Amino acid sequence: MRSRDVGGLTGVPGGPVCLLLLLPPSGRRAGRRRAAPGSGILGAVALDDASTLIGFDSLLDDEERMIQQTVRSFVDKRVRPNIGHWFEESIAPMELAAELGALGLFGMHLTGYGCAGTSAVGYGLACLELEAGDSGLRSFVSVQGSLSMFSIWRWGSEEQKREWLPRLAAGEAVGCFGLTEPDFGSNPAGMRTTARRDGDDWVLDGTKMWITNGSLADVATVWARTDDGIRGFLVPRATPGFTASDVHHKLSLRASATSELSLQGVRLPASAMLPEARGLSGPLSCLNEARFGIVWGAMGAARDCINTALRYAVERVQFDKPVAAFQLTQAKLADATVELSKGLLLAMHLGRMKDRGTLRPEQVSIGKLNNVREAIAIARTCRTILGAAGITTEYSVLRHANNLESVLTYEGTSEVHQLAIGQALTGLSAYR
Ligand SMILES: Cc1cc2nc3c(=O)[nH]c(=O)nc-3n(C[C@H](O)[C@H](O)[C@H](O)COP(=O)(O)OP(=O)(O)OC[C@H]3O[C@@H](n4cnc5c(N)ncnc54)[C@H](O)[C@@H]3O)c2cc1C
Repeated sequence: MRSRDVGGLTGVPGGPVCLLLLLPPSGRRAGRRRAAPGSGILGAVALDDASTLIGFDSLLDDEERMIQQTVRSFVDKRVRPNIGHWFEESIAPMELAAELGALGLFGMHLTGYGCAGTSAVGYGLACLELEAGDSGLRSFVSVQGSLSMFSIWRWGSEEQKREWLPRLAAGEAVGCFGLTEPDFGSNPAGMRTTARRDGDDWVLDGTKMWITNGSLADVATVWARTDDGIRGFLVPRATPGFTASDVHHKLSLRASATSELSLQGVRLPASAMLPEARGLSGPLSCLNEARFGIVWGAMGAARDCINTALRYAVERVQFDKPVAAFQLTQAKLADATVELSKGLLLAMHLGRMKDRGTLRPEQVSIGKLNNVREAIAIARTCRTILGAAGITTEYSVLRHANNLESVLTYEGTSEVHQLAIGQALTGLSAYR
């Protein structure tokens, strides 16, 4: 483990190093073979983790493996037993915040101020394992770390960093990030939320929409139009004129709070503005961090779908044999595993580039576009393998597929990433 800073993932006593030692044997050795239950007609053995077929884990160093196993174990123990209920009842599991903080997962690739300071690949692996549990959980960690904390860490004053980052890293406080508005999603440059000067103060007016963690947040990073262009502001929850209300009737990301933020004459001191962020490049830099996590996270959801379908297919007998024994089923599993393998390798390639400091936004767009698109296709295919059983929350496949619809849309839609890649290829902007 790197020990650049404090935090659960740096191996402090009682941290996840201990968790790792407590892992059950199945957690320690993914990919072990087991006899297929069911009819036993084939006497077959089956992989219990499709990602091991390509030997992906051999690309990891010891620290990365420890992060992977620690987060996987956490998800197995704390998320899998409850996620179906949370999703059905639309519960954002806030009870996990302190535990995620203790594991060092919030802002884990940032340094100082209580952040764990892991590599980008370590952060990606954590996103992958969290999203194997549920995209809502990964969204919670992504928004807290890559949008809320990163906006403060990258663009905030020393005073703002000291005030918020240690509490956000520990999970004692929750953050959100308000960029999207009811009339401006893919085109945030058109935003109508304004911040005007009144003496030394700022006064904010406007509405932000579809904001993850909005109603749970102790502090919101809000982007607003000023006479000086787009600037970011830290809005504490209790500020008069600031309210957050949840979006209901969601069919996707149900174990995650999605909110509308209303700002009516919200008066803030001059010190509330993020001093270093000027223009749209401020929020876009934060989105780029979060998108990187999605490149990995989507493959976690995909892996969980394939593994679920694999387990089901070797046990489910039709026409006197496991459905896994039909060529059509194997073609689905094989194609899904090929796409999973390609997506994992792409995520790793981008992660190593990010750790070297050479990763460019259009390269993140390639990862986000491909991996989310393929993860949805994998989730839907795996759902078919489970037949009717695939449509309930007893199995993860349709929950993942529904969640991935949101992941496809937020942090830049597929079309927006196609335009970013197209612009990088041709030198021509096709946004307008
Ligand atoms: C669950 C969830 C959580 C979210 N969390 C946050 C958050 O925490 N903070 C935040 O700020 N936002 C958040 N968002 C908002 C998200 O970023 C936006 O939904 C996204 O940017 C798309 O904007 P839109 O929904 O307004 O779609 P629109 O921009 O209206 O797009 C509609 C369709 O038109 C297409 N389109 C738009 N422009 C073009 C173009 N130039 N060329 C071709 N096609 C185009 C889009 O790709 C899309 O298919 C969240 C969204 C969801 C669903």
